[in-house]
Amino acid sequence: MTAVTVIGLGIMGGPMAANLVKAGFDVTGFNRSKAKVDQLVEQGGRGATGIADAVREADVVITMLPDSPDVEDVVLGADGILAHAPTGSLWIDASTIRPDVSVRLAEAAAAQGLRAVDAPVSGGESGAIEASLSIMVGGGAAEFEAARPVLEAVGSTVVHVGPAGSGQTVKAANQLIVAGTIELVAEAIVFLEAHGVDTEAAVKVLAGGLAGNRILDRKAAGMRARTFQPGFRIDLHHKDMGIVTAAAREAGVAIPLGAAAAQLMGAARAQGHGNLDHSALLLIVEQLSGRTNR
Ligand code: NAD
Repeated sequence: MTAVTVIGLGIMGGPMAANLVKAGFDVTGFNRSKAKVDQLVEQGGRGATGIADAVREADVVITMLPDSPDVEDVVLGADGILAHAPTGSLWIDASTIRPDVSVRLAEAAAAQGLRAVDAPVSGGESGAIEASLSIMVGGGAAEFEAARPVLEAVGSTVVHVGPAGSGQTVKAANQLIVAGTIELVAEAIVFLEAHGVDTEAAVKVLAGGLAGNRILDRKAAGMRARTFQPGFRIDLHHKDMGIVTAAAREAGVAIPLGAAAAQLMGAARAQGHGNLDHSALLLIVEQLSGRTNR
């Protein structure tokens, strides 16, 4: 039985680890807060007391951590993956981090005799729970084939997109599209409300035409009701807009609408909404429109 360790059992890593248990893998989990580890144990996994303990006997190690510095610490630290995972084991980074950091860490892993792929995911909390994530994988062809059975237990679309770091570049494009779409859906809802239109009926018909999209399907009801429980936190999408704007600048590509969406995401964070779902961009549209005290 393949031994899989998951480090980072948050909104995404928790359900992914549970699905790996259901798929028959021998799963060990570690998280900074112990409650998440206890939850995995209740679901049939094993708990670890630290990273070294978690990875020592792993065939595959998955990291699902917030940001580039978190992944760097967990991979390169004295108590970390490279120092303690067995030679030949496979490290899958499912976190969304900077492509350049991803490339550098993959090289460090190879120098230590580990195989590595970057495999960021899209599909949100519901995709993680339903094991229907879309997973964009960067790395060598052999590493991709080795990672595939594990990734297919947590996702329904698993695609090799190129060498190390490419998964992260594709994920940055994903976050650009999602942020821009949320902003336009939020603007449409506030616009419709200002005109006294029944937004439930409006969303229904919009979803059936060319304006139809997943944000309308999954987020519009929460936006209309002003319920912004995450989901995907504004803080994390702000991090991702930093990644995509820096990567676009590096490539000399103009992303004017993406840059505006990045500014609005930053404003949402500055207004204290960092822990709300990214659909809370709507609050900024309301604020800019002078419609906060309706
Ligand atoms: P989260 O904050 O819910 O989970 C991260 C977990 O990592 C937390 O439980 C935290 O305690 C743990 N952690 C942090 N540092 C640690 C360390 N050094 N050792 C052990 N555990 C540590 O975040 P999330 O929403 O699950 O997102 C994780 C990653 O996936 C992020 O990069 C995010 O951008 C990406 N992502 C999230 C979503 C989403 O909808 N939530 C969707 C796709 C991708």
